Amino acid sequence: MDTIVVGAGIAGITAARLLHAAGQRVVVLEARDRVGGRIWTDRTAGFPVDRGASWIHGLTGNPLTGVVAALEMETHEFTVGSFQAAGRPIADYDESRRLLDHEAARRWAGDVDTADALLERIVAASGPGESYATVAERALAATGWEPRRADRVRAFYRHRTEEQCGAEAEQVAAHALDEDAVEGDEVIFPGGYDVLPRALAQGLDVRLGRTVTAVGRTAAGVRVDTEDESFEAARAIVTVPLGVLKAGAIEFTPALPGAVAGPIARLGMGVFNKVFLQFPGRFWQDAVYAIRRHGRAGFPWHSWYDVSAVSGKPMLLTFAGGAWGREIERKTDEEVVSSVLAALREIHGDSVPEPVAHWITRWGNDPHALGSYSYVAVGSSHDDHDALAEPVDGVLHFAGEATCGREPATVHGALQSGHRAAERILGSRLCLTELTRGVTPVR
Ligand SMILES: Cc1cc2nc3c(=O)[nH]c(=O)nc-3n(C[C@H](O)[C@H](O)[C@H](O)COP(=O)(O)OP(=O)(O)OC[C@H]3O[C@@H](n4cnc5c(N)ncnc54)[C@H](O)[C@@H]3O)c2cc1C
Repeated sequence: MDTIVVGAGIAGITAARLLHAAGQRVVVLEARDRVGGRIWTDRTAGFPVDRGASWIHGLTGNPLTGVVAALEMETHEFTVGSFQAAGRPIADYDESRRLLDHEAARRWAGDVDTADALLERIVAASGPGESYATVAERALAATGWEPRRADRVRAFYRHRTEEQCGAEAEQVAAHALDEDAVEGDEVIFPGGYDVLPRALAQGLDVRLGRTVTAVGRTAAGVRVDTEDESFEAARAIVTVPLGVLKAGAIEFTPALPGAVAGPIARLGMGVFNKVFLQFPGRFWQDAVYAIRRHGRAGFPWHSWYDVSAVSGKPMLLTFAGGAWGREIERKTDEEVVSSVLAALREIHGDSVPEPVAHWITRWGNDPHALGSYSYVAVGSSHDDHDALAEPVDGVLHFAGEATCGREPATVHGALQSGHRAAERILGSRLCLTELTRGVTPVR
């Protein structure tokens, strides 16, 4: 065997496919009974519900754009997936449940822009140990706004780290969101996101239900142990989520060097969960992409996205990130649903019916993820992401979203990390069109 890939998420599948296309013998060991990892489309209701990733965050300059086009995946424009203040039409409600008119909504988005411009300069001048909360407070103080006006942007900033990092602003480094720009439209997938990993896994030797417990570097390369079998190869690419690495679920021998162990310890693994509610009918405005509650009234639930275009059913999606995301994992489904409904009824009153179905994710407790995605925690930097991918003894490579300093916490970042690992192993540049060569679109 030339290469063993641990994990059949998008990073692992990308690396395996590129190596396979270059003529290598590759085996992929995956703990779950499916490919895709944190791309997970639930089809039990007869229509797709994406419990993991949903969006391509910006089509411009994104390597996924060409891949998705080559696979003929159907996309639906939905430009507000990265928690932007002014995405496509949003029904914004203030603390007193009033719907902001166009002018008021424009002023509020302008406030976020003004504070962001200040924040960017303050972040650039900030020290390594400073948190996003600290620099955000400094930016808000510099605006000189009256408390209620500042409060609305403060709440937005808190939700921004909860959603983009799965962590509280106090835990997130000041520089964590430096690379967080969205270029171009965002899209979601009416046919489900898992079409992507399922298509790319075609023809690969993927062994499902194989939980890797140990990876040893040997004279001949690597030895990879699962619960009941061992595999040997010239090298391995480990793509398991950072949460799994942090928990020590895989024993590495010899122990990982500090250059890799350090980033694993320093980077954070956030929790970001989804709650989908399917309703018997619409009670919200037509043609809005999202409903959003501003200021202090927006805790803990603040944004509901109309994802009816994916399922064809009246459906809202809301998020719980950071401490609240962890807390809902300790609640029953009934408790979570009634809490979301109470927040929606504050805005829409009795017009909010009981949902006919719900889906609630619990990524923090998922043993093969132990969190949703990585973030730059206070005391770490974006360089830690890339340092994690530095090959160990020339035989052990790491890939996955947590190893991509430019675009962590995304599908395209994971894909780029798999591409990089394959290039490092082959010692040559690889064109990404190789990834989809000969792949039949999956429906
Ligand atoms: C709720 C949620 C929403 C998201 N939304 C978006 C979005 O809209 N857009 C976006 O771009 N990104 C989004 N993301 C992030 C995106 O899903 C991930 O960054 C990306 O899918 C990670 O791919 P990966 O290959 O690095 O890891 P994974 O997909 O997690 O793949 C790693 C694989 O390793 C396997 N594994 C773990 N332990 C073992 C073991 N011991 N042995 C063998 N196999 C093991 C896992 O089962 C998994 O299949 C979201 C994530 C979550 C959780």
